[in-house]
Amino acid sequence: MTARILVVDDLPVNVKLLEARLTAEYFDVVTANTGMAALEILEKTPCDLILLDVMMPEMDGFETCRRIKANQKTQHIPVVIVTALDQPADRVNGLEAGADDFLTKPISDIAMLTRVRSLVRLKQLTDELRLRTETTQEMGINLPASSHDFSGERGRILLVDDKPTSYERLMSAFRDKHHLEIETNPQEGLLRASEGVHDLIIVNLGLKDFDGLRLCSQIRSVERLRHLPILIIVEPDEQARLMRGLEMGVNDYLVRPIDRNELYARVATQIRRKRYTDYLRDTVQFSLEQAITDPLTGLHNRRYMESHLGALVTQTAARGKDLSLLVLDIDHFKAINDTHGHDAGDDVLREFARRMKKAVRGIDLVCRMGGEEFVVVMPEADISIAYTVAERIREKVAVVPFPIHDGTEFVQATISIGVAMLKAGDTAEQLLKRADSALYAAKRNGRNRVVADAA
Ligand code: GH3
Ligand code: MG
Ligand code: MG
Repeated sequence: MTARILVVDDLPVNVKLLEARLTAEYFDVVTANTGMAALEILEKTPCDLILLDVMMPEMDGFETCRRIKANQKTQHIPVVIVTALDQPADRVNGLEAGADDFLTKPISDIAMLTRVRSLVRLKQLTDELRLRTETTQEMGINLPASSHDFSGERGRILLVDDKPTSYERLMSAFRDKHHLEIETNPQEGLLRASEGVHDLIIVNLGLKDFDGLRLCSQIRSVERLRHLPILIIVEPDEQARLMRGLEMGVNDYLVRPIDRNELYARVATQIRRKRYTDYLRDTVQFSLEQAITDPLTGLHNRRYMESHLGALVTQTAARGKDLSLLVLDIDHFKAINDTHGHDAGDDVLREFARRMKKAVRGIDLVCRMGGEEFVVVMPEADISIAYTVAERIREKVAVVPFPIHDGTEFVQATISIGVAMLKAGDTAEQLLKRADSALYAAKRNGRNRVVADAA
């Protein structure tokens, strides 16, 4: 993970120390000795995370944080406030100033690197989302309206904890903030997590007769839980287990006694990250589907057909199997539009798509090439099978009228179909072209008929 981190502290020795540690982890480090200097750097240099000391002369960390969060250019950069151990009120002030997390001096490596990694990943996700939204808009693809909740609030959290004093305290901490479910049995916990409905799972490592790390590792090995954030609760003397947990993919941790503000900040970060990740995955899926799907009929579009047919032709030729193809075109479709309106024409196209899908096998590929022209690709079908299927579709269309205007009226339609089979040495284009010529022969010979390519 490469990221640029801005370290802000008035004491040069602190700056040097953090810089050295972060550089050793291959982060790119920029430093500032005052809040003002930090703001100036941020104006010119894009940063992925800010480590911000609270106690600084002139402008303190809270004020600096407020200004970073008030500036549109910098508000999305995560800020980690560095507070003194004996000043717990600083954490509240930090949250109010808009900080994303805290570190307490003296800063432990493991605490710092865990938080830095976690927040940098979140930042990268939000950057990616912004970029992707822009790109898809440029491509003319509209993402589904973003009614998405990217806050870290009102999450659904599963807590695996068998100690009543412990889970009751968390229950009261989360009241009105999150929806908390408690599971005292770790194996049940895994089953419940597998439902895939949670935003976060919190595991108390101090379970009575069960190794909490085993549960973490089980969660990480379930494919659909790969993106479920895990936060563990550890005792102060469990350093080694904590390290193991982080190595196996635990996202963050809290050390007892749990500070409520730390709890809130860390839980919120994990929930936000989960929501961003889910959204990004969904939109990728969505834009991929949209790029290869015809919106009117839900069939594959020409772009998909052409790339898929190319691959199929190569594969079929290599295996010495059959491949046939139908090109279908609605007869006098223009007249349907002219007589009944464009919407009625759309109804016919949709219903025709449904009938074709019903008439073919699962491995056959039905595509809308554009307008009222369609293609059905039939792997492992010779020309006589393809002809039979084509004839079945033609008859179904000609015999059963198409409902239009919400089924209040019906319109009669017929189609013409050209059929061709792959020959040795054929390319996808040649195959399509021969089916096309057969289609034109069908049109010429009076429409409402199937013509097989003679070659
Ligand atoms: P032929 O029997 O020779 O195929 O005649 P045709 O009228 O079906 O063919 P032509 O290519 O002349 O007209 C096709 C019509 O299809 C013209 C166009 O407006 C209409 N069309 C294309 N796409 C759509 C669509 O998405 N919806 C609707 N309703 N009509 C469409
Ligand atoms: Mg037509
Ligand atoms: Mg046409």
